[in-house]
Amino acid sequence: MSNEKNRREALIYHAKPQPGKIKIVPTKPYATQRDLALAYSPGVAEPCLEIFKDKENAYKYTSKGNLVAIITNGTAVLGLGDIGPEASKPVMEGKALLFKIFSDIDGVDIEIDTKDVDKFVETVKMIAPTFGGINLEDISAPAAFEIERRLKEELDIPVMHDDQHGTAIISAAALLNALEIAGKKIDEVRIVISGAGAAAVSCTRLYKAFGAKDENIVMLDSKGVIRSDRENLSKEKLEFASDRKIDTLDEAMVDADVFVGLSIANIVSPEMLVSMAKKPIVFAMANPNPEIEYDIAIAARKDIIMATGRSDHPNQVNNVLGFPFIFRGALDVRATGINEAMKMAAVKAIAKLAKEPVPEQVNIAYGETRLTFGEDYIIPKPFDPRLIAEIPLAVAKAAMDSGIAKQPIEDWDKYKEELIR
Ligand code: NAP
Ligand code: MG
Repeated sequence: MSNEKNRREALIYHAKPQPGKIKIVPTKPYATQRDLALAYSPGVAEPCLEIFKDKENAYKYTSKGNLVAIITNGTAVLGLGDIGPEASKPVMEGKALLFKIFSDIDGVDIEIDTKDVDKFVETVKMIAPTFGGINLEDISAPAAFEIERRLKEELDIPVMHDDQHGTAIISAAALLNALEIAGKKIDEVRIVISGAGAAAVSCTRLYKAFGAKDENIVMLDSKGVIRSDRENLSKEKLEFASDRKIDTLDEAMVDADVFVGLSIANIVSPEMLVSMAKKPIVFAMANPNPEIEYDIAIAARKDIIMATGRSDHPNQVNNVLGFPFIFRGALDVRATGINEAMKMAAVKAIAKLAKEPVPEQVNIAYGETRLTFGEDYIIPKPFDPRLIAEIPLAVAKAAMDSGIAKQPIEDWDKYKEELIR
């Protein structure tokens, strides 16, 4: 399809039959005078008073418990950059659509017109009583780090910056499986991370939680290898600074087992791939165009295990495998946050799913004859109905085990049935 045809189709999709991608629908009867007297005055005063007595009752009598705010200031939207709050709205509405279709969560997009961290945090804190959870989205680094840290500290509902943790969770699941296929151990492999932004930092932290060793990691930003003797490094970059006396990506790639790209398009050459260790794992995740084109990469190395952010190649690292299900699990046990244990549980559940036999309907949905665990299938596909049954369960359990679930689940079979419904 031509670019112009795609462009027109996308604009018409958003404009017709009514502008935008989501709307609000009532969930209670409203046909009679009696219904209205219950829905609004005077009946509505009763739940108000119950919630006034105990705020937790908001989960019982309002939509709070299934309502997630998707909040941005439009400073790092897709690969489009700082396009502002209004222009980011289609993306946030899109996220609301994904929440709804994959895990039946109601998402409300909120675009805030400020780049000031204090004002942003203050605004989110003030509107937080409305919501059961907060998905921060497309906020540029380093502001995103501080905004998330402060909101997690100061709010008692799940808060997650999806650009950081969504990518980290999905790519960690892919990495664990790729390592298994390559027959390598995470605490032994040499890892090159290209990029030192929101996604790269949080991915690397999570890989470390699974055993990746500091001394085996080299991270690069737009200036080259982040060496510990480089001046004026941000707190986050200092965390991953290397003691190795190398400066370029060419040097870093020699004998590396894993390349993780969260930077920009076309910075990896076939020669670099050739210099990597045997069975190299290459996750070129820059969007929309990866650090090296898929076809060029697989032509350069027959033994490569490759993933990208794109749906037109195998192994798409796509956040939609994570956030709908992670928030589902967190909301369902009324978790006071999304902690490391919950993220790690999601990683393990996603990784495990890829190793199990694929339901026929998934093969059909993707026009595949037989998806099986291996180089070209290291993570599940988004339209896999098992995601909703498995991931929220794992996340909810981890929230309970780590002591942050305000409403623990007792009957897991019943919960699973509810999830599938
Ligand atoms: P970000 O916070 O703006 O970070 C971008 C990073 O890339 C910065 O650290 C920047 O260096 C670095 N960079 C720029 N040019 C580079 C080069 N030539 N070599 C090495 N590093 C370079 O953005 P982000 O949110 O982390 O996203 C980064 C990329 O990952 C984007 O392309 C995004 O689309 C992609 N991404 C993909 C997924 C997925 O699921 N597939 C998810 C999230 C993000 P400086 O620090 O020096 O500026
Ligand atoms: Mg995003």
